[in-house]
Amino acid sequence: MKGKPLPRVTEVTRPYWDAARAGRFVIQRCGRCRRFVHYPRPWCPHCWSTELDWVEASGRGEVVTYTAVHQAPSPAFAVGAPYVLAVVRLAEGPQMMANVVHIQPREMRVGLPVRVTFEEREGGFRVPQFEPATG
Ligand SMILES: [Zn+2]
Repeated sequence: MKGKPLPRVTEVTRPYWDAARAGRFVIQRCGRCRRFVHYPRPWCPHCWSTELDWVEASGRGEVVTYTAVHQAPSPAFAVGAPYVLAVVRLAEGPQMMANVVHIQPREMRVGLPVRVTFEEREGGFRVPQFEPATG
C-alpha cells in the first residue's frame, strides 16, 4: 500500500527481503546447533555461531498475543484501521511481530493458526504478514 514505510535492507536482512519479493518466506537456521533464528541476525542467539543458513520456512504459525490498533501511527496505516498487530510463533519455533490480515479484531484469539501472506509495498517490496489458516 502506498505511503507505508519500506524495509531498511542491510547486508544481514537482504536475503530475507529478496526472498519475500519472490513470494518466499525464509528464516535462518544455525549450522552448529541447528536451531531456527528469526529476525535475521549475523550470529546465532543460542550458541553464537556465525554459520547461519537461509532456509524456506513453512509459513505456518500460531498467534501468541495480539492487539487491535485503532489509532494508526500515520495516515498510511489509518486506511486499514482497526487492524491486528500480533506476535506469531512460527512452526519452526521463533516468534515474530506482524499484522494478521483478512480477519476482524473481534474474531482474533490466542492460539489462532495462521499462515504467511505478503503485503505489497512500494518499490516491489513484499512484507510478510499473516492471515488465518483455514482448512
Ligand atoms: Zn546456534
